[in-house]
This record gives sequence, structure tokens and C-alpha cells, in this order.
Amino acid sequence: MWPRMDSRANILEQANAKLTEYLTQNQMRKTPERYEILRIAVQTKGLFTVDKMAEIMSQEASFQVSRATIFNVLELLNNAQIIVKHTLGRAAQYECHMDKRPLICLICEQCGKTEKMEKQELEKTLSAIKSRKMSIRTQILYLSGTCRKCEAALRKKKKGNGRLKSDAKPK
Ligand SMILES: [Zn+2]
Repeated sequence: MWPRMDSRANILEQANAKLTEYLTQNQMRKTPERYEILRIAVQTKGLFTVDKMAEIMSQEASFQVSRATIFNVLELLNNAQIIVKHTLGRAAQYECHMDKRPLICLICEQCGKTEKMEKQELEKTLSAIKSRKMSIRTQILYLSGTCRKCEAALRKKKKGNGRLKSDAKPK
């Protein structure tokens, strides 16, 4: 029901246009840092943190920017509705998201890792939700639990403890 993602180049073009429009409207400067961070945000697959962005920039950007600048630009891109900010994990995570499509995220309560889930049925239900109390801008559904990696680690730990004590059987 949503047009499938077009190519990254196309998305970057749309994102650039959206940023230019936002900066013009708000009388802000069109600095190369802003466009470079946007380019990397669009090209990064999945979610990223400020640290991850700094790491990518140190490898491939033609100039260096501070973490504070990265943070400020990401906030700006969030306000411009080009990226979405997730704040449930230990560190805020961001992702490029420009269409109206609802987001479904899985969050691990142990390690804070956030992953995206694609469920068309759920997306359809979410997008149909309206509120009289506010006009909804972004629809994000968070599902929390324990990721497989943490689950395996917990099981291993439990097993280790079990050996020290009596061999109590799980119910
Ligand atoms: Zn985990």
C-alpha cells in the first residue's frame, strides 16, 4: 500500500530537497556539514547512534565534524521530518524515514538493541488510527523483550548457576 522504496540516490535527492526547503523556511544556513550528515544518514542501513555516525564520518567524510555538531544536525533532521529519533535504548538511535509509513521496532531490554520489523498487516492497522486529541505525525510501535543473543547469554548464565546449586528443574 506504500510505494516501495526507490533507489538510494532517489531518496537522497528527495532528502536534500526537503532539507533545503526546511533550512530556507527557517532561515538557517545551508552548511556542507548538514548535507554531508544527511547523505550518510540516508546511506546508512538501519538505525544508527551519534557514535556510529561519528565513526562513519571519520572514515569517509571529506572533513571532520565534532560529535556535538553531529548531534545538533541529527536533531535538525528530526525536526525537518527527514529522520526519526528513537530514545528508548541506552543511547538515542536515528534512522532515515521520510514517508508516512508506520514504524514497528523491536527493543531488547537487556542490551538496548533496536531492530525494525516489517509487518504489513500491522502497518495497515496503525496507519488507520486517528485521534481527536492530536494530529498524528509519526506512528512508531515499540515491542520490547529479549533479543536472541541476550536470551542465549542468559540461558548460559542460568545453566552455570544451576550447576553450582542443586539441579532444580525449571517449571
Ligand atoms: Zn539483547
